[in-house]
Amino acid sequence: MKDSYIHQGLRSKLITTLRSKGIKDERILSAFMHIPRHLFLDSAFAKWAYTDVAFPIDSDQTISQPYTVAVQTSLLKIKGVEKVLEIGTGSGFQACVLSYLGAKVYTIERQEKLFHKTVRLLDKLGFGRIRTLLGDGYKGAPRFAPFDRILITCGAPFVPQDLLDQLKIGGIMVVPLGEGDVQRMIRITKVSPTKFEQEDFGAFKFVPFLEGVNRSKKI
Ligand code: SAH
Repeated sequence: MKDSYIHQGLRSKLITTLRSKGIKDERILSAFMHIPRHLFLDSAFAKWAYTDVAFPIDSDQTISQPYTVAVQTSLLKIKGVEKVLEIGTGSGFQACVLSYLGAKVYTIERQEKLFHKTVRLLDKLGFGRIRTLLGDGYKGAPRFAPFDRILITCGAPFVPQDLLDQLKIGGIMVVPLGEGDVQRMIRITKVSPTKFEQEDFGAFKFVPFLEGVNRSKKI
């Protein structure tokens, strides 16, 4: 578990790349400067951690591309006090970005093995304040609802009604929507209990949003 000047140098190059791709929010760029992405990857991929690429993580899942994390975070319009529900904890990197911005983060993962690995990592990195939940994101987290923001970080075939119900009026949901290989990045604003506005921010690729919890087998 090390971070070094070399890693910091690589991070500042990644930030230059993100700027060149249109990410302008200094707070988000600062989150990328401070969160050591190489510690979220398998050591085999660590040396490429600061390239703008998605990588495989445990349980056949992926850590999203930095640009995708930056876009999803910008679309959420976080000011720093919001209660945010993330679906798809994965490596925990996106949750750390939201927490760094000051949001109160709840995050759900369905892969039990990956979940436990990530909980340990978040504690070690000083992000133990992130509330981690093992469960099925299709159901959300009704115990902690309503949320100011909901972020789905896996490709959703449809928008679950339970998640729309758990969003505050005036709240924002960001969801990669669509079956198959490619999704559209959709931002939904809840205008009233039954009225939603929708904006489209283009094509992105995500692993699928699957139902149920995948319990790890005991030996
Ligand atoms: N936000 C993550 C991206 C991980 S990829 C990161 O920063 O690394 C998407 C994750 O969504 C995977 O870990 C996958 O297991 C999880 N996922 C898919 N369907 C889910 C569901 N129904 N509930 C919770 N998590 C789910």
